[in-house]
Amino acid sequence: MNLGDLAYPDVPRDAVHLLPLGATEPHGPHAPLSTDTLISVGICKRAAEQLEGEIHVLVLPAVPYGVTRYGSAFPGAVSIGEETLRSLVTEVAETVGRLVLVNSHFEPEQVETLRSTGLPLLDLTRRKNAERLTEEFRSGSCHAGRYETSLVLADRPELVHADRMQVLEERHVDMPAAIRAGQTDFVAMGMDEAYCGSPADSSAEEGRETFETLTEMLVTLIREVAA
Ligand SMILES: [Zn+2]
Repeated sequence: MNLGDLAYPDVPRDAVHLLPLGATEPHGPHAPLSTDTLISVGICKRAAEQLEGEIHVLVLPAVPYGVTRYGSAFPGAVSIGEETLRSLVTEVAETVGRLVLVNSHFEPEQVETLRSTGLPLLDLTRRKNAERLTEEFRSGSCHAGRYETSLVLADRPELVHADRMQVLEERHVDMPAAIRAGQTDFVAMGMDEAYCGSPADSSAEEGRETFETLTEMLVTLIREVAA
């Protein structure tokens, strides 16, 4: 189900393709720069497994770069511009045919760019999706906090520095409000360690539950696209 693992005679012609989109961006002192990408890949993998025997689903190689400016004060942030992202996504769609975008990086310029392509998008910032997710996610104080860190713990626990995570104090930052107020970097928002929310409360169990919910949402979307 990973397109890149197949040899060409084995590629089904009628597949729905999933494009996992993430970022390379600081996620606290405890979680990997690839957090958003890992989450998108985890959702895609589960949805493809769930639909096996029903719909041909192929997971494309993930896009590890996004429009990521808020974290630029920290080492490890690698950003691309809106036009680059838009071109990449639309050209991939022209090549493969049926395509669903699966995004886990929520900087507004990233989300707006993906929406503007008009392609099917698992958009977790839409209310009908967001209201099914955890309290921390809904609070908007959730960068590298409990929500995201739990998801990484579910799939790649070896990438989370548990010793650092356990001593991080809860940090409440209403990111949507801060963004509306014109703050465009983590430090200005009060995130001097590139996180908000409550990473110390993370668990692999919560991550697995959240993955289940996210997978349900994506499976529904894929069925709509395939119909
Ligand atoms: Zn993230």
